[in-house]
Amino acid sequence: MEERKLNFLEEIIEKDLAEGKVDSIITRFPPEPNGYLHLGHAKSICLNFGLAQKYGGKTNLRYDDTNPTKEDTEYVDSIKEDIKWLGFNWDKELYASDYFDQLYEWAEQLIKMGLAYVDDQNQDEIRAGRGTVDKPGTPSPWRDRSVEENLKLFREMKEGKWAEGEKVLRAKIDMAHPNMMFRDPLLYRIKFAHHHRTGDKWCIYPMYDFTHGQCDSIERITHSICTLEFDVHRPLYDWFIQTLGIYPSHQYEFARLNLTYTLMSKRKLLELVQKGLVSGWDDPRMPTLCGVRRRGYTAQALRMFCDRIGVSKRDQLMDIQLLEWCVRQDLNERSNRYMVVQDPIKVTISNYPEDKVEWFDCPLNPAFPDGAKRQVPFTRELYIDRADFMEDAPKKFFRLRPGGEVRLKYTVIIRCDEVIKDDNGKVTELICSYDPSTHPSAGEWRSVKGTIHWVSCKYAKEIELRNYDRLFTLADMSQVPEDKDYKDFLNPESLVVAKGWAEPALLEDASGIAVQFERTGYYVADKDSTASNPVFNKTTALKDSYKPE
Ligand code: ATP
Ligand code: MG
Repeated sequence: MEERKLNFLEEIIEKDLAEGKVDSIITRFPPEPNGYLHLGHAKSICLNFGLAQKYGGKTNLRYDDTNPTKEDTEYVDSIKEDIKWLGFNWDKELYASDYFDQLYEWAEQLIKMGLAYVDDQNQDEIRAGRGTVDKPGTPSPWRDRSVEENLKLFREMKEGKWAEGEKVLRAKIDMAHPNMMFRDPLLYRIKFAHHHRTGDKWCIYPMYDFTHGQCDSIERITHSICTLEFDVHRPLYDWFIQTLGIYPSHQYEFARLNLTYTLMSKRKLLELVQKGLVSGWDDPRMPTLCGVRRRGYTAQALRMFCDRIGVSKRDQLMDIQLLEWCVRQDLNERSNRYMVVQDPIKVTISNYPEDKVEWFDCPLNPAFPDGAKRQVPFTRELYIDRADFMEDAPKKFFRLRPGGEVRLKYTVIIRCDEVIKDDNGKVTELICSYDPSTHPSAGEWRSVKGTIHWVSCKYAKEIELRNYDRLFTLADMSQVPEDKDYKDFLNPESLVVAKGWAEPALLEDASGIAVQFERTGYYVADKDSTASNPVFNKTTALKDSYKPE
């Protein structure tokens, strides 16, 4: 691995370790189980798990499950699968809901300290009372209830005596505080909702700010890493920990990952799924981890990407082409090669016997010419791609033209002797002849400018190709104009279904990762495949002019 400068989180950790502030580090990845993980989460996972790995620490998987109405075990399971797929193992699997009893006790403790009260105001009144950045808030008329009354009401809230919205528990801090977070933040709200783990035990649920830091503290998380928008919450995070006198976890913020042509809000991704605008959370166009996996992106490529983009303290829009470049880097090294023709023209080799078939031994990966092989059948009738033939070809066209020569990859050189067209002038067949001296068994080598791929008509397998492109047409999806909706920028050509003719060995591929269709792109077998209709998803094109800095 190339040497690189420490990022700011590594600097902090190395300093904390050197000064003996911590003996070893513990991080956590805290997803809310209200959707599937996406590429942004991959960055957070690589960071949290990567830092712990680098410094011999541990990482907990902690579900932030305080919102019972939006959460589901389907999401819990998918999150675990995705983290494992990325190549990481958590130390403990934990849930914020594991700590509901402890959090409740702490809430009572704050009440007893005179630092929390039950407020009867409704949502709108509370919001109005908060004031603005320039205007101090106004105290709730219920702010000065006695400790006894607050305890009694809070217990009644817990016992289900009050309806949703009738009461909330708030911290009693400072209604004029310059940080709005401190203007008596909500600690608990009433919700008669079934929880995926605690069932119907609770009808009050703690708010994020009253949950996250304390959960970190209980688990003795040393470095609690989250995205930048939480920096205004940090003082409150510290306030709860200090006021309760518990283990001092610390929060650090980094810039979230934004990618061109990509949306990464679970809420919007859920809308795409629910409206049927994609086939599901794992639609290969989705930025979800299950989506990109189905698309053929590898965990290695994602980790390479996260490593390359690093961590910063300033929000930035990353180029999706860097991710695609990483995918190509990885697949170029590891993927097996096969020939597939997408838009065929028939080629008949007039001087090759009609019933003959030769099976050529071809390397599965040209980087390893002596490595594993596949058998490619050669016959008199072949298909080549229409794009590899041109009638009135310019000088620089090095593929097949009337009277011209080209090498059929792995085999002989052919010459085009005759062009056959239908009534509309469309080329339907090329009559060619091959040069026997260029047959691999002849032992002679003669070079020719162009080499093209091909398949045997007799042995080719028909496959379905799902050629995917970007889901959105707008590069910066945070710039959707006011009068438009993000759905207005869906790319109508993000999926084009086509047919292909593949060399037979493709269907026996056992690599488990995407393969390269030689000269065209990377493709991966899809779960929709059946024996009679194999389906392949386009992972990415073979080449791109993009070069990372
Ligand atoms: P979304 O806005 O997509 O719903 P979220 O932040 O609500 O995302 P969580 O499940 O709460 O999703 O996130 C789990 C962790 O992943 C958090 O620490 C969060 O900061 C981090 N995370 C989420 N999105 C990104 C992103 N785009 N880049 C980096 N980290 C992210
Ligand atoms: Mg969240």
